[in-house]
Amino acid sequence: MMLLVGNGRLITRGENHRLIENGCVAADQDRIIAVGTTEELRANYPEAEFVDAHGGVIMPGLINAHNHIYSAFARGLSIKGYQPKNFLDILDGQWWTIDRHLTLADTKMSALTTYLDCIRCGVTTVFDHHASYGGIEGSLFVIADAAKELGVRTCLCYEVSDRDGEEKMKAAVKENADFIRSCQNDDTDMRKGMMGLHASFTLSDSTLALCRENTPDGVGFHIHVAEGMADVYDSLKKYGKRVINRLHDNGILGSQTITGHCIHVNGIEMDILKETDTMIVHNPESNMGNAVGCPPTLEMMHRGLLVGLGTDGYTNDMFESMKAANCLHKHNLCDPTVAWGEVPQMLFENNAVIGARYFSKKLGVLEEGAAADIIVVDYDPLTPMHADNCNGHMLFGMMGHDVVTTIIDGKLRMKDRELVGIDGVEILAKSREQAADLWSRINA
Ligand SMILES: [Zn+2]
Repeated sequence: MMLLVGNGRLITRGENHRLIENGCVAADQDRIIAVGTTEELRANYPEAEFVDAHGGVIMPGLINAHNHIYSAFARGLSIKGYQPKNFLDILDGQWWTIDRHLTLADTKMSALTTYLDCIRCGVTTVFDHHASYGGIEGSLFVIADAAKELGVRTCLCYEVSDRDGEEKMKAAVKENADFIRSCQNDDTDMRKGMMGLHASFTLSDSTLALCRENTPDGVGFHIHVAEGMADVYDSLKKYGKRVINRLHDNGILGSQTITGHCIHVNGIEMDILKETDTMIVHNPESNMGNAVGCPPTLEMMHRGLLVGLGTDGYTNDMFESMKAANCLHKHNLCDPTVAWGEVPQMLFENNAVIGARYFSKKLGVLEEGAAADIIVVDYDPLTPMHADNCNGHMLFGMMGHDVVTTIIDGKLRMKDRELVGIDGVEILAKSREQAADLWSRINA
């Protein structure tokens, strides 16, 4: 089916970044075939279905480079006796407690609600990091089914950890390997797999070796790095080296590997990340919420490291993450002049580069040949808006739920805030039931 999305301010991104007044984008099946003005494209493709942007902003779908579907049912949950004093207490008392109770049914509903919210926030590609030690086998397949049902592009992994014993660790490695293999036999370009790892301090050298043996060529790892100082102390104490050095020595780094956070990394570790072309994903709101410190994100970017932006399960709204990153780095450095360029670069340019390391179609850009991942934001600027200042308009003028239309892989998933072919009310009703059930099991 051919689609035209027009009658709006169109922002292309990419090498030929432009803002086209009364712009329009044409998609044939899953790819963009033309970008121009509404008049031009309507004349060239008179038979195409026309999606009216009603004067809003037409832009590429957003990419979330680090999310946690399994955290969905934490919203509003109160766990008996949970009074965390530090980051490890938060992990063990909340996140591991939740994931130890997650069944496949819980995982399925967490995934449906998360992808639903992603569509509503204009996020068309999600890199997820999953844990459900209550139901490991098949969990990535259940999530992939939910992504397929809702039509969201996704790259999944299961977080391998020694924290629940050897048998479960091995089941987690197998789940990654099985899923990666299934993705290699899938030519839709809608789902990809990685080898997920929790964090250095819950992974022995022998577990890392097992993960490496089970990871096919061309596939990397997705791991949390030095999110808390406990991860650094553990690595120094047990192995006599810092986290990045340890991961490097274990063959975990490389251009296909995503390291989340990298808060407590020093200059030598940054050099290693750069030499190995390893990806880093910054999750500002989560870092502030967990009170784990501010990563040296801007320095990493100035050194030429590839840093993308995620949410770490805190939200599915990438505009929210952008706002948090903007304030965090200004606040941290006591310098209101910083972060203006770096934060949009993370979200728009670097997340597209990260996307390109897993998906074949070009993501994060509206240009001929790119994936037909297109969103419309309900936004009418109060000041002049052009290609060079559109990031300022996004930072101060847009929220995820201002997205009114979401097209993924050439298919309309939401139009004028109405979901298309998706019963959102039913998904949320079932999700509340499932969450209540999970909560009662957690507090039993
Ligand atoms: Zn995370």
